[in-house]
Amino acid sequence: MSLPQFKLLRPRSIEEAVELLARHTNGTDGSRASGQQTPIRIIAGGTDLIPSMRQKLFEPEYVLDLRGIPALRGIRPDPTGGAEIGALTSLRTIERSEFLSRHYPVLTQAAATVASPVLRNMGTIGGNICLDTRCLWYNQSLAWRKGCGFCIKKDGDLCHVAPGGKKCWAVFSGDTPPALLCLQAEIEIASPAGSRRVPLRDFYTGLGDDYRVLQPNELVTRVFLPASSAGYSGVYRKLRVRGSIDYPLAGVAVALKRSPKGSGTGNGNGHGVGHVADARVAITAVNPAPLLVKGAGEMLTGQLVDEALAETVGDLAAKTAKPLTTSALTPEYRREMIRVFTKRAVLAAAGH
Ligand SMILES: Cc1cc2nc3c(=O)[nH]c(=O)nc-3n(C[C@H](O)[C@H](O)[C@H](O)COP(=O)(O)OP(=O)(O)OC[C@H]3O[C@@H](n4cnc5c(N)ncnc54)[C@H](O)[C@@H]3O)c2cc1C
Ligand code: SF4
Repeated sequence: MSLPQFKLLRPRSIEEAVELLARHTNGTDGSRASGQQTPIRIIAGGTDLIPSMRQKLFEPEYVLDLRGIPALRGIRPDPTGGAEIGALTSLRTIERSEFLSRHYPVLTQAAATVASPVLRNMGTIGGNICLDTRCLWYNQSLAWRKGCGFCIKKDGDLCHVAPGGKKCWAVFSGDTPPALLCLQAEIEIASPAGSRRVPLRDFYTGLGDDYRVLQPNELVTRVFLPASSAGYSGVYRKLRVRGSIDYPLAGVAVALKRSPKGSGTGNGNGHGVGHVADARVAITAVNPAPLLVKGAGEMLTGQLVDEALAETVGDLAAKTAKPLTTSALTPEYRREMIRVFTKRAVLAAAGH
């Protein structure tokens, strides 16, 4: 499949990138109707954008390459606590960061599961956050989509997954966003009006087509990890068909902080488990957005984690998951694996 023709723009600074986006965007505020194609697309590592362009899902006139902007790279610990990560930082750099694995292990674990080492060398954290939603009826060649009939997400007005409805249910399949949700991360968005910080949980709309709150004249520049989320034990588990090079079909992130040793009883296996001081659970690849599991933290906080409690949290996560036939494997199996992985991840994060 060949790439459509486009003009490549290579800004050297964030300001230049914003100026180019504004110049090549429809309308003065960059707004557009849901599903409408924009004349310019941002490329970071290109590991998702290029295959999508080959499938003619995007045929922009301009592609804005962020790779010439040094300010967008790197992991910078904040002297007052916390850290910021440039949007162009590769997933490989995140996976290998000693600082992140010591203070924010759920993020390094999630990054290490993305695709394969080669794709993690190219793929960036900004691209993973902004990743397009996926569906078996959408991530196909133009000829395939033409043959089967276009749908709401591109060029059509019906949904093959939920016929009769007007909503697109394409699924968000990034691995790091659930980890970032557990860490209460914020992102910085640069636009012609200046920069603003947005909690990541407010970035996703829950719609499969218009899935993120980002106008075509805006870009994600940084990710902020708060000091208050440092030191949580973290576990990420994902379901995929192959052991590597595969998007998640269900994914669970858990970040958990225990009270200091001595405030709880041991669990008999030498780990000395304390009560849970705080916990967060998030899921991915089973809804059009990555989601924090509401009520999971409250369920765990103040408790000693055992099998029964971990199973109850697993039930809650499974209720939050709404998988449909957008992906390989049945929705029932994917929901069940959310339950199982959540239970296992909670037990592992609690030291069992
Ligand atoms: C075979 C294969 C397997 C894969 N497996 C996984 C997997 O297991 N888990 C997973 O999470 N992903 C997977 N991916 C997808 C992809 O590799 C990763 O999500 C990667 O992190 C995307 O980053 P990128 O820099 O390459 O994004 P790009 O492809 O450059 O961009 C992705 C999207 O984000 C937008 N974008 C990128 N950066 C910015 C920015 N700073 N501001 C605004 N918009 C931006 C682009 O316009 C585009 O819409 C897989 C891809 C392939 C080809
Ligand atoms: S969920 Fe429906 S509208 Fe969305 S991409 Fe799949 S088939 Fe198309």
